[in-house]
Amino acid sequence: MASGERPGEFEFIRRYLAPLSSEGGFALTDDAAELIAGEGWVVTSDMMIAGRHFLANDPLESIAQKALRANLSDLASKGAEPVHYMLSLALPDDFSEADMAALASGLAEDQTRYGVKLLGGDTTATNGPLTLSITALGNRPDKGMVRRNGAHAGDRLYVTGRIGEAWLGLQALQGRIQGKWAGQKAAYRQPEPPVALAAYLSGLASAALDISDGLLADAGHIARQSGKRLEVDLSLMPVSEQARRWIDADDAPDDRLLDLATGGDDYQILFAAPPFAEDAIAYAADQTGIGITRIGRVSEGEGVNATGRNGPVSAVRAGFTHF
Ligand SMILES: [Mg+2]
Repeated sequence: MASGERPGEFEFIRRYLAPLSSEGGFALTDDAAELIAGEGWVVTSDMMIAGRHFLANDPLESIAQKALRANLSDLASKGAEPVHYMLSLALPDDFSEADMAALASGLAEDQTRYGVKLLGGDTTATNGPLTLSITALGNRPDKGMVRRNGAHAGDRLYVTGRIGEAWLGLQALQGRIQGKWAGQKAAYRQPEPPVALAAYLSGLASAALDISDGLLADAGHIARQSGKRLEVDLSLMPVSEQARRWIDADDAPDDRLLDLATGGDDYQILFAAPPFAEDAIAYAADQTGIGITRIGRVSEGEGVNATGRNGPVSAVRAGFTHF
């Protein structure tokens, strides 16, 4: 990020952020925003810090998009379609006007893509790393948001998309694995949460969450909140062709499956649903073009039981935690 002349705080807001604003955001000219009517809101918040949640040299367009999409992922997993977001930024002193423009253009692209608009927020300078905090609001589904605590014994477990792609991308970006891994690097920088599934999810799922800390760690959250055991078959876990070859090439494929199931940053949805929902799930997958794969079941008990190609695998490696 080159330093030099850059707009002041209010000029930055006027020039780059106000064009992104919602109707109730008053072009970011007032102290607060106004939300009118609606059937209720689902609200979520996510903060991202350079060097921790993204690489400091990632493109600013994708950094902004990753911060926004992490929130859209949370909303989607609750069955809520995104509408508004609040953005708070701490910009390093060497953050240039070109950096500001890049950040705003990433957001503008995603606003069009996902149908969301900026409602407000805060900006400040910092002598620390670039920090973005986003709070997103989505329409509350008629039956209320899909909780983590509703899984029943006998339910089936499903995941969207592919698991472990972002983790592989990060390994490649940091030079820990060889090869091109272009799709995986993109998955790390610009996750694609299954936002279109939100409209169907509250009618299908008994429990759901988005996978940000790793499949097995997040499965543990559903198990704990629902008071049930989740049985996950990692050999059924959806992975890309390139990931499949990487697993097959290893003497201990179950270790590689475990890497992918504990890596995190997937921003896919893990959900439980009763057996009779199977046709409706297939229909939702067909309508949205989102891949949905059955990977296990819910039973009485507690915790997460993971099996690989060669039987039970040790899941002592927990997922990502911040502290
Ligand atoms: Mg989440």
